[in-house]
Amino acid sequence: MDFDKTIKQVRKRYGVDVSVREDERSVFLSGECDKWSDVVAIGKMFVTEGKHVVNDIALKGYVAPAERLPALSDNALDGTDWDVVVIGGGISGCAVARELTKYKLRILLVEKHSDVARGASGANNGMVHAGIDLKHRCLKLKYGVAGNALYGDVCKELGVDFRRSGQYVIFDSRLIRFFAKGTVKRAVKHGIPGVRILGKKEIAQVEPRVKDFAVGALYAPSTGYVSPYQLTIAYAENAVQNGAKICLNTAVTGMDVEKGKVARICTNRGTFTARCVVNCAGVFADKIAEMAGDRYFSIHPRRGTDLMLDPKAEGVPSQTISMGPTLKSLSKFGSGSTKGGGVIRTADGNYLLGPDAVEIPDREDTSTDRQSFDSVFAKHSGVCPTLRRSDVIAYFSGVRAPTYEEDFIIERSAKVANLVHVAGIQSPGITAAPAFSKDVAEIVKDYLLSAGTQVAANERFDPVRPRPVKAKSLSDADRDELIKSDPDFGKIVCRCEEVSLGEIKRALRNPLGVTTVDGVKRRVRAGMGRCQGGFCMPLIVDIIANETGVQAEDVTKDDIGSNVAVCKIKEVGQ
Ligand SMILES: Cc1cc2nc3c(=O)[nH]c(=O)nc-3n(C[C@H](O)[C@H](O)[C@H](O)COP(=O)(O)OP(=O)(O)OC[C@H]3O[C@@H](n4cnc5c(N)ncnc54)[C@H](O)[C@@H]3O)c2cc1C
Repeated sequence: MDFDKTIKQVRKRYGVDVSVREDERSVFLSGECDKWSDVVAIGKMFVTEGKHVVNDIALKGYVAPAERLPALSDNALDGTDWDVVVIGGGISGCAVARELTKYKLRILLVEKHSDVARGASGANNGMVHAGIDLKHRCLKLKYGVAGNALYGDVCKELGVDFRRSGQYVIFDSRLIRFFAKGTVKRAVKHGIPGVRILGKKEIAQVEPRVKDFAVGALYAPSTGYVSPYQLTIAYAENAVQNGAKICLNTAVTGMDVEKGKVARICTNRGTFTARCVVNCAGVFADKIAEMAGDRYFSIHPRRGTDLMLDPKAEGVPSQTISMGPTLKSLSKFGSGSTKGGGVIRTADGNYLLGPDAVEIPDREDTSTDRQSFDSVFAKHSGVCPTLRRSDVIAYFSGVRAPTYEEDFIIERSAKVANLVHVAGIQSPGITAAPAFSKDVAEIVKDYLLSAGTQVAANERFDPVRPRPVKAKSLSDADRDELIKSDPDFGKIVCRCEEVSLGEIKRALRNPLGVTTVDGVKRRVRAGMGRCQGGFCMPLIVDIIANETGVQAEDVTKDDIGSNVAVCKIKEVGQ
């Protein structure tokens, strides 16, 4: 790349001067800008084949908020020694930990929050992408397509609902329908099964709501949906079942590197050692790399907001459906910052509208705002024109973790021998995790063997994680039996989602030891319905207090310090 030319282009376009230096792996940028979107856009201008971009261009006057760290400090892990330490309890870390338990290794996963799936893995669309929009020769394509193919088996083993529902991308222009033939050809080349173009009549039969404007659709039958947090939890539980240890409320705060290896890992719960370290820290993956003196890529956080629709709302399509590209956006198809989103069915029968894609400087900014709400509603409600804003019952944001090269980084560090990076895991990270976690486990195994550590197969590895009981989905006869065996399954606590006391009690006995209100919510959906916990939250606080033997005031919504109640103000009579 001719850097001088690009520097001149930056000056002309954005009115700023940037400094550039490079080494064998990366291009390093520095300077100052007035707008964060300019910082990101400039970073992208320096993307060049075979190198990563490290973008240190500062946003004028912006002071990054301190990273959220657990309000806990003890020595629980001090002086311990592990074969493998996995940093981060998202889908990447939990799937890697589970794959590693196929070997007889001492595995520790540390997660800074009070539960797994608290980063992007807990706030996304849960779509198991077919991969129709992915570029040639990238890891996102390789692992996206391979991961999609594994979903049926993995979800069966881990007791998680998964449905291969297919996806319809609607065209309202004949010209776009014509161009879509290229996408079909590309899908065949990439090994994506069954992709084809549906005519006007066919799509109107599948989804009558689009009959007035759809001239056809691209159909990708291998697209599916899963609950991303339930799958992450299931991976984590299966890892624990097979011998891994998961330490929540534990943040990696530093690393000592000696003789080209991570020698010690420092956390709020003590300092310990590991033969191999796997960096699955999501939006903080570049910070973890930096702690190990191996800074060769940058993550630029990209927030996406989704709107959750009332499942009973009229006008919601019955399929995962989105508008195809317009003539204007066609050239960007497959290279954009979001897969386009749409109306996406979730594993729990709700529909999500979204997401959007907003570049933000704060890695942990999961706030929602009116602008995102409006733009998501305006963009995606096009496929269901009768949808009303009052059909939205909740909205949330998650933060993607892209690199400037917009691809995954899954490799052993070139500089720190015992460090493996699983970074830049933006969409389709949920789809791809079942596939890349297997390769990461192999990378770790090969490294450990090369470093003289014995790695034997774990003959007691059990891939099956028992499926949690979901009383609502049982037949009347089976439900009656269940209630006979334990009357708690007949006492409904969450009316919107029909969740019983029995299910909540079982959820509280989870192998990760999570006893928060949101932990219950993620496991059994109590509080996720139309009233969003308005009725059941106080009951759930009481159940947690009774089950765990703590005072109701000590029950937290989520992380340490997020207590639901401050104190008792009065006793209610018998
Ligand atoms: C709005 C949105 C929609 C999306 N939709 C889809 C979709 O439909 N399909 C799909 O396939 N993908 C989707 N994605 C992408 C997908 O969510 C991510 O690729 C995936 O969740 C990334 O998982 P991860 O484990 O790498 O990161 P994360 O889930 O972010 O996990 C990283 C974890 O590391 C922890 N951590 C960070 N620093 C430290 C530290 N110092 N010490 C200890 N722990 C630390 C964090 O707390 C976090 O829990 C979407 C993403 C977003 C934001």
